Amino acid sequence: MTFEPADRVDSVPPSGIRRFFELAEEMDDIISLGVGEPDFSAPWAAREAAIASLERGQTSYTANRGKRELRERIADYEAATHNLQYDPDEEILVTAGASEGLDLAFRALLNPGDSIAIAQPCYVSYVPGATFAGIDVIDVPTRAEDEFKLTREVLESSGAADADALVYCYPNNPTGATMTAEEMASVAAFCRENDLLVFADEIYADLTYEHEHTSIATLPGMRERTVVFNGFSKAFAMTGFRLGYAMAPPEAIQAMNRIHQYSMLSAPTTAQHAAMEALDNCRDEVTEMAAQYDRRRKYVLTRFEEMGLDCFPAAGAFYAFPECPWDDASEFAESLLQEERVAVVPGTAFGEGGSGHLRVSYATGLDDLKEAMARIESFLD
Ligand code: PMP
Repeated sequence: MTFEPADRVDSVPPSGIRRFFELAEEMDDIISLGVGEPDFSAPWAAREAAIASLERGQTSYTANRGKRELRERIADYEAATHNLQYDPDEEILVTAGASEGLDLAFRALLNPGDSIAIAQPCYVSYVPGATFAGIDVIDVPTRAEDEFKLTREVLESSGAADADALVYCYPNNPTGATMTAEEMASVAAFCRENDLLVFADEIYADLTYEHEHTSIATLPGMRERTVVFNGFSKAFAMTGFRLGYAMAPPEAIQAMNRIHQYSMLSAPTTAQHAAMEALDNCRDEVTEMAAQYDRRRKYVLTRFEEMGLDCFPAAGAFYAFPECPWDDASEFAESLLQEERVAVVPGTAFGEGGSGHLRVSYATGLDDLKEAMARIESFLD
């Protein structure tokens, strides 16, 4: 007997992004526009709250679902910022990042052999997560001409009506696309008509620059079929704390907690203390970071226009998704890295619909962004 990956593990290739970063790590003087996380540190008050909790010796597990004081604050925050009403006792589960929440939903709410429609290009974890859970994936490629919004038309043409659930993310990684309430309404109608569960990844909900975020769970008939995922990684710049949460009707949270209580016990305790402080006292920092992302976003979009790189006006998260001027985006990204030492990620790393594009993250200081844009311009010349 030797160690071999199980078949469902073997069937998932290593992340396309990682391979690229490994290449970049071996080189000096790289400006990375490849990262998918904030360049800011977590707000100081949140870090201090984590330290203070350690000094008080608060180093035990918490309740499986997370500290009640934290769940109450999450409920208040979601009600105030996204018009979502969830009961802190029955309908909120604190998880180790939104990532854990998504993994729990795949495993706790679907059966092996069920199918899930995944709007793509998308965050790199959805397809592997579904595959690890034995769920069949229906690719739903969103289109550049729709500015990568999910439409009823692409849902219909990709066979999503046969799925048991739909997973999508707006504001979107990797495209930066957002959807308005009106645009979301036709997706909601499709899900109601075809009786789909919805897994709504709203991790970038507080990073929108043109219009307010609308959660699909606020639309008629949607709350009862939706699990909303959010967390502290993006808007609060707390990726390393590994803290997120899922919100859904009690039956869904109970099922997800059934796995969570055995596999995780509870989300990191120190991080829960930091998160409470973040919600109480760090909202101004969130607003300030969002303002900085917006400044960079406008700069990047303007520069792409000057260079003649086609790029729709992405209005959320911290990504732009310009069209790649070469046929092969991976080759372009690799040459750009080698010749100009700028790392961007080829859209192909994010699944169907991403080819022919590049993901450019502006979670990088403005000085570096300026230098990177100059290098890209010289590469194009
Ligand atoms: N969803 C999306 C769309 C993301 O971009 C990321 C992080 N890159 C995550 C989820 C993971 O978030 P967390 O750190 O809360 O696990």
